[in-house]
Amino acid sequence: MVRVQAGQDWDELVRYTVMHAFSGLEALSGIPGSTGATPVQNVGAYGSDVSQTIATVRTYDRGTDSIKSFTNFELTFGYRDSLLKRSTVNGSPRYVVLAVEFQLGLGRMSKPVRYAELARALGVEVGARAYANDVRREVLRLRAGKGMVLDAPDPDTWSTGSFFTNPIVPSAVADRLPQDAPRYPSGEEGRVKLSAAWLIEHAGFAKGFGLADDDGRAAAGGRASLSTKHTLALTNRGGAAASDLLAVARLVRDGVERTFGIRLEPEPLLINCSL
Ligand SMILES: Cc1cc2nc3c(=O)[nH]c(=O)nc-3n(C[C@H](O)[C@H](O)[C@H](O)COP(=O)(O)OP(=O)(O)OC[C@H]3O[C@@H](n4cnc5c(N)ncnc54)[C@H](O)[C@@H]3O)c2cc1C
Repeated sequence: MVRVQAGQDWDELVRYTVMHAFSGLEALSGIPGSTGATPVQNVGAYGSDVSQTIATVRTYDRGTDSIKSFTNFELTFGYRDSLLKRSTVNGSPRYVVLAVEFQLGLGRMSKPVRYAELARALGVEVGARAYANDVRREVLRLRAGKGMVLDAPDPDTWSTGSFFTNPIVPSAVADRLPQDAPRYPSGEEGRVKLSAAWLIEHAGFAKGFGLADDDGRAAAGGRASLSTKHTLALTNRGGAAASDLLAVARLVRDGVERTFGIRLEPEPLLINCSL
C-alpha cells in the first residue's frame, strides 16, 4: 500500500514507484498534475487508469466539515469520471482530496499491457507484461511524439491535453461509421468506445487546424490550433485567449457532429465559459 499526499506531483510519484519496483502506475507516466487530482476524473492513458490501483481516498467533506474516506467501490469510477467529479460544481469540489492510497504490485514487471500501440512499441503481445521501466520509457516516448509532454520551445506542447473524451455510443451508432473507424470495448453492455481523434481527422480537421483571424475565419495556424502532432490536443500557439481555444473547439465539435452525428464532449472542466 502506498499512501500519497494530494499535492504530490503525479509523474514524480510514477517515476518513484517504477524505480522502487512497485507496479501498476507505469502506463500513466508523463501526465501533468497532482496526485490528488487523479481520482477526480479517473486519470487514464494507454489502457490503464487509476481506478485499477486506488484502494482508498481520504477527503475533507466541505458539506459536513468532516473527514471522509472513500473506498474504490464507493467512488463509482467511470471513464474520466468519479463521484468526486460528479459532486464538483463549477470547479468547486465538495470533497477535497487529502491523500490517495494505492495498492500496487511488488516486482519489476508491469501490469499486462492493454493498449495495442504500446504493446507494439514494446515488442510484446497485448495482454503480456514487460519491464515496468520499459513501459514508462515507451509511454514517455509515445506521449512526446504526440506533443503530450511539455517541451518549452515546442508550441505543440503548450497544450490543454486531449480536449475531447472518446465518445461512448450505442453499437448501432458505431455500426454506421466507416469500416476503418477504430472501435474499443467500453465496459458497458451494447456500447462501444470510439476514437475522438479519428472522428476529428475524418471530419476534415487536419493536424494544425486553427484560427487565423479575429473574425473567426478558419485557417491553418493562428493563435490557437489543433496540435500539429495530434488532432485531439488543442494548443496555444502564443497569445491565445480561452475564447480562441473555444472557437477552434466549437468548429471541431460542430464539424464532427455534422459529419457523423456524434457530439464530442470536452474533457477539461470549463469554468465560467462554455463551448
Ligand atoms: C498535456 C496534457 C496531457 C494530459 N494527458 C492526460 C492523460 O493522458 N490522461 C488523463 O486522464 N488526463 C490527462 N490530462 C489532464 C490532466 O493532466 C489531469 O486531469 C490531471 O489530473 C490534472 O491535475 P491538476 O493537479 O492540474 O488538477 P486541475 O487541472 O487543477 O484540476 C482538475 C480537476 O480536479 C479537481 N481537483 C484537483 N485537485 C483536487 C483535490 N485535491 N481535491 C479535490 N478536487 C481536486 C479540480 O477541482 C478540477 O475539477 C492532460 C493534461 C495536459 C495539459
